[in-house]
Amino acid sequence: MPSVHGIAQKTVLTNTADLIPKLRQRQFGFGADSIRSFTVGHYDEQYEAEALDQEHAKRNKRMSENRRWDIRFMKLAHHIASWSKDPSTKVGAVTTSRKGVLGLGYNGFAAGCDDNPALYKDRAQKYPRVVHAEMNALLQTDRLRVNEHITLYSTLPCCADCVGPIINFGVSRVVFPQWTNDEDKERFMVSLNLPISMKMFSEAGVIVDWLD
Ligand SMILES: [Zn+2]
Repeated sequence: MPSVHGIAQKTVLTNTADLIPKLRQRQFGFGADSIRSFTVGHYDEQYEAEALDQEHAKRNKRMSENRRWDIRFMKLAHHIASWSKDPSTKVGAVTTSRKGVLGLGYNGFAAGCDDNPALYKDRAQKYPRVVHAEMNALLQTDRLRVNEHITLYSTLPCCADCVGPIINFGVSRVVFPQWTNDEDKERFMVSLNLPISMKMFSEAGVIVDWLD
């Protein structure tokens, strides 16, 4: 280190990179070397572009991470659906928060009630008795202990009868699998009253996502 009269002198600033506050360099993760050749004017553009790129990269990473969890929870819902004793329609549902899985449900008769397979084959007997998968998942979810957003995954879009309780329970997002064929779509549109379901979700501000 140079000295004058025995007192150490600091090195004089020699390039623009030294003018950039160290905090900013740390915050956006690029060091002095990558910007050493830029003037201060060019630096501002470069600085903005790199910061934007990094923000996009972070957002894409977050989105792909969210999608990965959506796929995992939907797979879990499909697995739960296989537990249903209904021979014609097996539905599974999962409620989650940032803490993880909160409740699981599949369509079936109430606990302890006669679940003779013959009753499932007779629609006049089945419909009044069956509890839908989403309702069973909500019944397992301890709402008072979860003070945050709840997402409900269901292997079949919710019928209009279930939508009201789902909204009042405080579910903020629902996820359904994308239709794989038009025949199912047309059939369930009518039998589940889906236009009304979707309108109710929309009115209440519940996000509806369809998973490919
Ligand atoms: Zn329902």
